[in-house]
Amino acid sequence: RQPIVAIDGPAGAGKSTVARQVAAALGLVYLDTGAMYRALTWLVLDSGIDINDLPAIAQLASSCQIQLASSTDLENPVRVWINDREVTQHIRSLEVTAHVSKVASQSAVRQELLRQQQRWGQKGGLVAEGRDIGTHVFPNAELKIFLTASVRERARRRQQDFEHQGQVTLTLEQLEKSIAERDFLDSTRELAPLQKAADAMEICTDGLSIAEVTAKIISLYHD
Ligand code: C5P
Repeated sequence: RQPIVAIDGPAGAGKSTVARQVAAALGLVYLDTGAMYRALTWLVLDSGIDINDLPAIAQLASSCQIQLASSTDLENPVRVWINDREVTQHIRSLEVTAHVSKVASQSAVRQELLRQQQRWGQKGGLVAEGRDIGTHVFPNAELKIFLTASVRERARRRQQDFEHQGQVTLTLEQLEKSIAERDFLDSTRELAPLQKAADAMEICTDGLSIAEVTAKIISLYHD
């Protein structure tokens, strides 16, 4: 199979933008696994299912069909459908963001999405981005990167994203709180928690531009 690059890290560390640019530069496909957890969370909320109704969530997970496609639209670079409904913009809402970690902690959800992600990676040729790519989804990836940044820096970047999209933004304190909460849930859950793989290269992106981080990863890939 062709090579796989795994990029993991906490919320807002710049994984998506960097992974997309690395994929484009290396001619690989970009896989946004967070978008899959978000799509399922959107479906749970849209179906009116209680976020604590684990059997109902497991049922939805086992029957869901998620499709992803790269798009040239810079505002929405990945288009996402679940059960044939396009949810590209819906999955970025504050409501989905607030509930996704809870949904992603369920074993039936992880099992199903892991299966779908590994099917994507069968032939390799992929830059996959998420929380458990290097540890669980593609433990044999040729290159593993763990991207970090301080909570303050990540909140600032999220605020810029919101402003850029002309959306109502939260205060820096609110964003820091939401990021820290999600990190806590993602890194303390029992199944496939957010964790640096033993053989991953850690890059702290504080003070680095997207272009600098991308260049660093590409040079590691060619080493
Ligand atoms: O990367 P993004 O912020 O879109 O991820 C949304 C959420 O999906 C994460 O906070 C995490 O709960 C979940 N996720 C996960 N495993 C992945 C990717 C995302 O649990 N590989």
